[in-house]
Amino acid sequence: MELTKPCADQHADFSAWRAVALSRMPYMAAMLFSVRVLNAPGLGTFAVDAAHRLYIDFDEVTEWGTTACAEVLLHEVGHLFGEHTTFAKDFGVTAADQKVWNAAADASINDDLAAAGCGYIASTGIMPAKLGEPDFQTAQHYYGVLKGLQQQQRQQQSGGQGASSSANSGQPDSSGSGRQPQDADTGHGQGSSSDGDGQGKPFAGCGSGSGGQAAPVELDAGDDFDGQAPGASSGERKRLLVATAAQIIEHASRGRGNVPGGLVEQAEQLLTPSTTPWQRIIGSMVRRVVRRRAGQERTDYTRRDRRRHNVRIGTSGARVVYPGRSAPKVRLAVVRDTSGSMGPDELTTVTNEIVGISRRLRIKGKDLQVLDVDADVHTTRGFTGARSLNEVHGRGGTDMRVGIEQALRTPGGVDVVVVITDGGTPWPDERPAVPVIACLVGPWAEDTVHQVPDFITRVVIENPAA
Ligand SMILES: [Zn+2]
Repeated sequence: MELTKPCADQHADFSAWRAVALSRMPYMAAMLFSVRVLNAPGLGTFAVDAAHRLYIDFDEVTEWGTTACAEVLLHEVGHLFGEHTTFAKDFGVTAADQKVWNAAADASINDDLAAAGCGYIASTGIMPAKLGEPDFQTAQHYYGVLKGLQQQQRQQQSGGQGASSSANSGQPDSSGSGRQPQDADTGHGQGSSSDGDGQGKPFAGCGSGSGGQAAPVELDAGDDFDGQAPGASSGERKRLLVATAAQIIEHASRGRGNVPGGLVEQAEQLLTPSTTPWQRIIGSMVRRVVRRRAGQERTDYTRRDRRRHNVRIGTSGARVVYPGRSAPKVRLAVVRDTSGSMGPDELTTVTNEIVGISRRLRIKGKDLQVLDVDADVHTTRGFTGARSLNEVHGRGGTDMRVGIEQALRTPGGVDVVVVITDGGTPWPDERPAVPVIACLVGPWAEDTVHQVPDFITRVVIENPAA
């Protein structure tokens, strides 16, 4: 496989696909114009790397037609806007799990594309519904679901059902809806090549830009292909993310067309600043929880979920019966100090940090509970975006202990409790049942952090407004 600069005809084809893509998702313009296009004969598909190089086997994909290519183009830049390479790293996705991650990332993109009217992707790509899951969840959520399925498949195989071992294949297959085997393992449903040319299976991922396996043709990070395709710098990538997020919010606020809800939420989170490295602070706790659940969570095989079909995963053909519940997920409760001493700046900082937690850990809703607490617990709600925190309940005295106690009683359980406060609160005398992290905000943070007991992890958050 030898990369080449696209010829004039290929450029014209690409422009046509991009025009259709823009008509579907005009707010993706910056992303669509940012990619460095290279012709990749023999690749059999599209692939993207994290530095915005887009590898296209023009000879192959042109036959799919303009609409399909336009939608796949949107799918590829969806990986870039979703920062799937970064998040895969954050979550410690190993080489063996890259295919599963790629599929999860695909599901998190394709529901948005379907909502924006991309019928080709909706009918051929990995969709959350095929995993028995609701739309508009995060890649991390679908990753947890797929890992759970993989686990069960292995258990069934070791139970003597399947002879062939496919330990490295977690690609979800089809839900028996008639998809062809050859496109079953392309995440975005690109209708992959079926020509058995004796050179092994064609590449069936989205490239390293999805956080999945790198396509065989990908350039090294520093290789600019003789100046034709220099990788995007981190500064350029950041600017593109912000510009795209701003466009999404703009389009959504003017009510132009239908901007998929998943994208609006992603954009809101991108534009809300939190520089606290939540993934690093909570990362080891999160990984422990996921490992424990993946290995030990008891599943009830007698309770079949009616929405789910029997689904095949991997290449062994083993039938998987979905149990009632499967996904290992992290559940976090945030105790938000709403006492009278918390001023508007502090409350804004708290909002930003909760958004930062949601963004870095990719959790929300029932998995990210926010409790408004002064000396009493006033409200408990699932986080659904920065706007869900606008209403502040409380404003009296300060006792975060009642918040921690209530958080520990969260229905369904909780894995980590984060308390965000300006201090001046009593703390528990004994180590709580799950890890607790205290985040100190406001002008007294440096002084009050010393009052936090040793068994609680402490973080001082500087006020960016100060
Ligand atoms: Zn993909």
